[in-house]
Formats: sequence, structure tokens, C-alpha cells
Amino acid sequence: MKFEKLVEDEAFICAQCNFCRVCPAFKHEDWESASPRGRIYLIKSLIRGEIKPEDLDEEIIQDFFKCTTCGECEVVCQTEIPLIDVWEKARASLVKEGFILPAHKRIGEAAKKTGCPYGEDRSRDWWLDFEVSEKAEVAYFAGCTATFRTVEIAKNTVEFLKKAGIDFTYAKNDEICCGSPLLRTGQREIAYEFFKKNYEEWKRRGVKKIVTSCSGCYRTIKRDYPEIAKELGYEWDFEVYHVSQLIHELIKSGELRLEKLNKTVTYHDPCHLGRHMKVYEEPREVLKALGADIVEMENNREEASCCGAGGGVKAQFKELAMKMGIDRISEAEKTGAELIVSCCPFCKLHLNQAAEEKNSKLRVVDLIEIVNQLL
Ligand code: SF4
Ligand code: SF4
Repeated sequence: MKFEKLVEDEAFICAQCNFCRVCPAFKHEDWESASPRGRIYLIKSLIRGEIKPEDLDEEIIQDFFKCTTCGECEVVCQTEIPLIDVWEKARASLVKEGFILPAHKRIGEAAKKTGCPYGEDRSRDWWLDFEVSEKAEVAYFAGCTATFRTVEIAKNTVEFLKKAGIDFTYAKNDEICCGSPLLRTGQREIAYEFFKKNYEEWKRRGVKKIVTSCSGCYRTIKRDYPEIAKELGYEWDFEVYHVSQLIHELIKSGELRLEKLNKTVTYHDPCHLGRHMKVYEEPREVLKALGADIVEMENNREEASCCGAGGGVKAQFKELAMKMGIDRISEAEKTGAELIVSCCPFCKLHLNQAAEEKNSKLRVVDLIEIVNQLL
């Protein structure tokens, strides 16, 4: 079977050392085929022709996709394989060969039909209760989860931008999914179409800077979009910010006056903001500036444990996603914090469901909700 060159090159570097057994999915599945090392072994066997694609059974394919693309394996990999890219590109090759899981197929079909992986066909600005500029240098990109599942994040972000005196535009119903769930599940072609639509809309509105409140959107627009632009021959000249970075900048320059947060909090690093994009300190600096008492979880920053939801795992493997979410809640409980703060609508959604399932008193609040309320 043919994989992209990057996957072929990197698969043969693997020393099979198994340092990557830190994988949070492997911890619960406990089968070699669901470990990073096992996945690399499968790729190698397919490349060498030792296993034929037609011999792959359902369980092996399922195990291959039991990966949130969290990147914990990449941090510890002894031969420095860019494992996140390897998993995504290997998935794209498998999908091309027709190996797509039912829930991922549903996401792709819903996204093609409605522009949203949740299949929501409501107007995307249903939550917006004031006017925003039609054209501006700054655009807010809300993304699907903040628009349809954790709308308080979108509402607090636009309120914050207004209060901070930033002139911004928001594409409303002309915004379309950034394509993150499609890129992570190997359905690249659909994501490319979404890239074109968002790109053209930003150009039409005179946008130069894109601000998002979602870690998945941030990763996609800041890291994937320039690569897609290059591949498709588009010029890429946008600056991209996660709203936590913008808040940090405004605090540093003395432009924000915030009240104090007298709480003990722990910070959950979203994989897409932390390991994927190396944004670890800005959200913590904002919390420090608010006077919060931050107590770190045992696994933080580069080693932070995944919430369990990403990479299409929540859609296809609900139980596994919940087990990982409960692990993270247990870790947060040990800190004695009153609140978990994060910077991602998807982490908030999933970890709050895990906290409920565990009967934990802890709840996740997004940084933007805190900042907007204290501004
Ligand atoms: S990216 Fe995360 S879930 Fe996927 S194999 Fe690596 S450690 Fe496991
Ligand atoms: S840590 Fe890297 S080199 Fe070692 S088994 Fe895992 S993927 Fe292979």
C-alpha cells in the first residue's frame, strides 16, 4: 500500500523502543495495535507488502483510529518522528483506500451538506446580539463548537473584543468549519474546499488578522492553512492569534484593566494549543495577571494529558473518550483547585461531560469567560 513519502520515511526510523507507551488511548486499550509503536509497525508492514490492505480486519483499523492525535507520543519519541503528522497523513492514505470509520464518514457527509461537522443547519450567527463591522482588519473566527455547543465562549469573545475597543468583523453565515475534524480524520479534500471558502471570505472583508477562541481552529488556521495555501497556489499573508495570546498582549501593554480572580485554579493545556502549537505560557500569564492561585496538574504543558475528545475519537469511540476525560478530571481533582481553566470549546465540552459522569464537583471554564467577566 502506498503512503505519503513522509509516512514511509519516518516509519522506518522507529526503533520500536516503546517509549511512546505513554499514549493515553493505549493505557485503556492495552493492545499493541492501539499503541503508537503498533501503529508504526502496521504502516511498515503495509509498505513492505507483508500485510495486504484487503487483509486488514475491522478491529485493526479501529485500533489505528483510536488516537486523539494528542501528540504525547511525539514528545517522548526516541527517534524524533513527527508522529502527529505521520498519524494524520497515514489516516488520509487509509481513507483514500476506503478505510473510513462510520462516525467519521457521518462527520464528513454532514460537513459537506451543512458546512458543519455537527450537521447543524441553523444560521451560524444565531447567538450574536449586536452589530459587528462588515469589513475590518481583524476577524473573529468562532468555529463550529463555540457556535453550536459552547456558545458562551463565542459570546464572551465578541463581548471582550468590543469592550477592548477592537474593530472586528465576523463572517456570520459565510463562515464555514475550519476543517479541523476532517483533517484529523483523514478527509483532506473536504477541508481544502472549506479553506477556499474561508480564505475568500476573509479577503472580501479586508481581513489581515484572524482571532479565534478555539484551539482546534487556531491549530488549523495557523499551521494547516499556510500549507494548504502553498499546495493550492494561494498567497498566505494572514496573522493568526488565539484569543489568549491577544489578551496577554493587551495586558502586557497596559491596555486592559481587570478585576481580580480570587480563586485557586488549575490549567488544562489543550493539545491543539499546547503540544501542537507550543502555546503554554500566555494563558498562564493571563491567569497570573488576574491574581489567580495556579496549581499545576502532575502532567502539564508538554506532558499534559489529553482530554480524550480529539482526532475523531469522541465521535467513534465514546467510551474510550470518556475514560480519558475522567483520567484528566481525576488529575485535576488531586490539585485541590476550585476550577479547571482551559482555552478550547471542545476540551470544555468534553471535560465537563467527564466531570458529570464522575460526579466531580470540578467544572471547566474557558479563560475568555473569566477575562470578559472581570473586564
Ligand atoms: S497522538 Fe496521542 S493518542 Fe495518538 S498515538 Fe500519540 S499519544 Fe496516542
Ligand atoms: S517512541 Fe518513537 S521510536 Fe520508540 S517505538 Fe515509539 S514511535 Fe518508535
